[in-house]
Amino acid sequence: MNPRYRRVVLKASGEALMGKQGFGIDVAVVDRLAADIADARSLGVEVGVVIGGGNIFRGVAVASKGGDRVTGDHMGMLATVINSLALRTSLVKIGVDAVVLSAIAMPELCESFSQRKAMSYINQGKVVIFAGGTGNPFFTTDSAAALRAAEIGADALFKGTQVDGVYSADPHKDRNAVRYEHVNHEQVLREGLAIMDTAAIALARENNIPIIVFSIHEERGFGAILRGGGRCTVVSNSPAPSSKKETRDA
Ligand code: UDP
Repeated sequence: MNPRYRRVVLKASGEALMGKQGFGIDVAVVDRLAADIADARSLGVEVGVVIGGGNIFRGVAVASKGGDRVTGDHMGMLATVINSLALRTSLVKIGVDAVVLSAIAMPELCESFSQRKAMSYINQGKVVIFAGGTGNPFFTTDSAAALRAAEIGADALFKGTQVDGVYSADPHKDRNAVRYEHVNHEQVLREGLAIMDTAAIALARENNIPIIVFSIHEERGFGAILRGGGRCTVVSNSPAPSSKKETRDA
């Protein structure tokens, strides 16, 4: 079968790896994510992955206590490397060839990122895990995901979230929140829909990269969308009008 997209970047937050724990990494959850990525690979889809670090550390936590933001962000970027190494381990365990490329050099742990190296590994069919965010403080791993998607010429950026798409309000707090089937980047920015940070949305818009918002907790949800089904909201520049489709429980 022909998958809906040929080359994608998957962004998952660090929190998605901690399962029911309040902190750190739940290996069973990482294994499940790895299985979903393996499923996508089995369709022939080329996959890059960006994992956040919020399950371990966020730079703002230091800054909010009067500490140095830049150092805090360095610590946050290190957290993404820890998560990336965990994901590579889970992928390799099930026979999926995967490599970690870090935006910050740490050659004893993993290779350093370069666009050429990333392309080479993607073309070899390896899953490329982009660690260390953008390598710069004051950015997020959402921006890193949009950046890497642009650099490797991805057809789509998959943003795994807590819910199955984009809502007019937080569906966990507002029962009247309605789910969008399709929105465009402009509307996301204008209405401040909380999907990814503004820099990430703007980068995706400028490079005409659709963002597929879906639930990271839905087992095989990633593959289902690649197969043409599944539940998601598509954020794209296409002229199709935004459509409010249904409430969460519909
Ligand atoms: N970070 C950074 N630059 C980047 C990406 C991440 O400084 O390009 C730091 C920042 O401190 C951030 C932390 O790494 O809070 C973890 O990333 P993020 O908050 O995006 O993780 P997520 O919320 O997706 O788990």
